[in-house]
Amino acid sequence: MVAHTTHTSDDAEALQDGTDVPLSLQKQCVLDAAQRMRKGVLLYSAIWAVLMQADQYVARHPYFALLNGLALLVCAALRLAYNRGLKERLERNFRRTLLVFRAQSLAYNAYWGVLCGLVLVAPDAENLRWLILMSTVGITAGGTVIVAIDAILPLLYPICTLGPTVLAVLPQGGSVNLALAALIGVFFAYSLSISRLVGREYWARQRSQALLEQRASELEVLSRTDALTQIPNRLKFQESLHVAWRDARRRRESLAIAMVDLDYFKHINDNHGHPFGDVCLQAAAKGLSSVLRRPVDMVARFGGEEFVVLLPNTDEAGALLVAQAMLDKIKQTFISQDGHSVLLSCSIGVSAHMPGQEDLADDLVKQADAALYVAKQSGRGRVMPYRAPATEQPANQPPPDNAVLTAAA
Ligand code: GH3
Ligand code: MG
Ligand code: MG
Repeated sequence: MVAHTTHTSDDAEALQDGTDVPLSLQKQCVLDAAQRMRKGVLLYSAIWAVLMQADQYVARHPYFALLNGLALLVCAALRLAYNRGLKERLERNFRRTLLVFRAQSLAYNAYWGVLCGLVLVAPDAENLRWLILMSTVGITAGGTVIVAIDAILPLLYPICTLGPTVLAVLPQGGSVNLALAALIGVFFAYSLSISRLVGREYWARQRSQALLEQRASELEVLSRTDALTQIPNRLKFQESLHVAWRDARRRRESLAIAMVDLDYFKHINDNHGHPFGDVCLQAAAKGLSSVLRRPVDMVARFGGEEFVVLLPNTDEAGALLVAQAMLDKIKQTFISQDGHSVLLSCSIGVSAHMPGQEDLADDLVKQADAALYVAKQSGRGRVMPYRAPATEQPANQPPPDNAVLTAAA
């Protein structure tokens, strides 16, 4: 099984245009290779144990059989131990870890190849020859596919396992040994072509996964961006609001919302046309965004000609200052295009609150909206903080004292 990879857009681009494979994918390739190899590492000791039983070889050569069996087992354990912390090692020193990883694999397989060669030339191991030869070819066939995703192992791996066999049988001469060496050569070429195929499939999968992830993240951004103004949309605002609300409750901080509505926008559309109205909305979004200074602040398009501002860790006084700056900015926004020109104006309702356990984030928005309504009713072009209506309103009393922050004339 191949471990899951998280790709960046750089990865996708690099894999798409065939430039150098990015480091993150090179690391992932080593991890995948290690995971593929894991099961086979103990196989060598198991095959050796079975082989040594054949023809009572272990009884005739106990030291050779047992010591090499033990060495194979110890090497396998060392490889497994090294691969356990492979991810951290790759992060710390990629080049050295890759070198050690490859060297371990090649040395282990070269060791097996030498054992195979030794058994092949041993005078009293006639019956073992074909068994170990079959095992080595099997190990090479499986191993070549497993290491296929690496850049150099597919070439060096079969050389390590099969090379000593060729070196052992060639000097012995004879048509059978020559045929065996030739067959190994053919098998080597076949293994190489298979491993190239497997490697290509692996990288094609990496490429399509990287592209898919890139597309998914682009869609993710698009689905949370307002198409006209290119600022966050209402969905993004709602998500950010709930995160900010939870944070504010946990940290016992005040959270503020400002609802901004452009004044008499219908007139602008009616008098200058919808496309000109769109230009005004874009200018308004830009103007409002330019006022924000902190990265956690956000202005989003709430809908139509209405914007919402999210101000974490901000009390009412701070939010009123920001709102006033936004009001001033909008009032200075003069738009002129194709013979049409207009000076924008807006009204803003502000609500700030330290969330309690019982409170709801959406209530803060409703309160800012209520304050906006009062700002509109009071003559537009102004900022209005939310004031809760008095629970019991005595007859003939004036309405609650909403401190009207009239925009600078
Ligand atoms: P008020 O001062 O009370 O807010 O008046 P208003 O005219 O701004 O408000 P009203 O709700 O009557 O009209 C809002 C207008 O905003 C109507 C609609 O055509 C316009 N509008 C909403 N979305 C868009 C848009 O995406 N582009 C353009 N050009 N206009 C839009
Ligand atoms: Mg309006
Ligand atoms: Mg409106």
